[in-house]
Amino acid sequence: MIDHFPAPGGFRKRRTGIRNALVTGLAGILGAAFAVPLSAPADATVTLGAAGKDRHIGTDVTTGRVGDPSSASDARAAGPGDCTAGYVGLTFDDGPNPGTTTALLNALTANGVRATMFNVGQNAQNNASLVRAQQDAGMWIGNHSWTHPHLTRMSVPQIQSELQRTQQALQQVTGTAPRLFRPPYGETDATVRSVEQQLGLTEVLWDVDSQDWNGASTAQIVQAARTLQNGQIILMHDTYATTIAAIPQIAADLRSRNLCAGMISPSTGRAVAPGGGTGPTPTPTPTPTVTPPGGCTATISPGQQWGDRFNLSVTVSGSSAWVVTVTVRSPQRVIATWNGTPSWDASGNVMTMRPNGNGNTFGFTIQHGGNRTWPSVSCRVA
Ligand code: ZN
Repeated sequence: MIDHFPAPGGFRKRRTGIRNALVTGLAGILGAAFAVPLSAPADATVTLGAAGKDRHIGTDVTTGRVGDPSSASDARAAGPGDCTAGYVGLTFDDGPNPGTTTALLNALTANGVRATMFNVGQNAQNNASLVRAQQDAGMWIGNHSWTHPHLTRMSVPQIQSELQRTQQALQQVTGTAPRLFRPPYGETDATVRSVEQQLGLTEVLWDVDSQDWNGASTAQIVQAARTLQNGQIILMHDTYATTIAAIPQIAADLRSRNLCAGMISPSTGRAVAPGGGTGPTPTPTPTPTVTPPGGCTATISPGQQWGDRFNLSVTVSGSSAWVVTVTVRSPQRVIATWNGTPSWDASGNVMTMRPNGNGNTFGFTIQHGGNRTWPSVSCRVA
């Protein structure tokens, strides 16, 4: 399974699988514990492709032992490897896979580098413990669709299903919905991008193609990585022993050039320092949080998602006497709230939330009416 731009008449993923329509049970399972009646999601039909049938599984490679990537990079606080030349994004697509992911993570952690894993949703669902291992190893996790299809040949509901199911599966395992999305084969268009935007996903392609999917040798993969410059991203895959074997040399080359392996910013889609600047790891929101001077900060986080609605929570820092304004986008409606006292403007689109004695995190459910864009949130001190 690969992510290159297919050459004319060139490689196409084999599609030998029987394509069955199926109704996702996931939304129902997720919604079962929730009080609001669940309506059938409009996007409940997906096609099952042949993903998984044609995946190249590399030889298992044992590469060093598990270490702590952050302490490994901290140990190089000065001199070569001090990040003064900036950050690059190492990315590995199509995982997790039982045959390769553990060896890949061992290689990355042993060499003190972190990477972004663009996981295929059905692989994640089938290998949840490997997703947790990615997270525990300090890797960032992105969405790479549910079945690895050619999205530009699909309808909007099909694209939505591919992306949403993967968001849900990854959130179930990691606790956080991804903010980064890489379209399979790098194939994208305005329709795909509109669905990404609805889900608050930033599209991430690449600057450097390692060609590991195309039979590149370990030396060729290392050579490709040598061309990486500050902010750039390299495409690699979870599935090849040649790629795993290249990691020690890639890490050494980056150190020698004072480059560090960084995270990919959901704001810019470029490689940046881990942590991305201010505060904790950025939380999924397409609209930046607002911090008025001398006031408080409201940080929005995703919750459960269903076909017709989704939960969000807002955590306030800086003051316990806060007033948070949440502005939803038509035709959205807030249909439930918790841990706060809401009031509403005449339009019903602006909710003003105040503390109700249950701490500084409140939540609410948005019935999205087809618009999955997150609301804008601002905070002031009462
Ligand atoms: Zn892929």
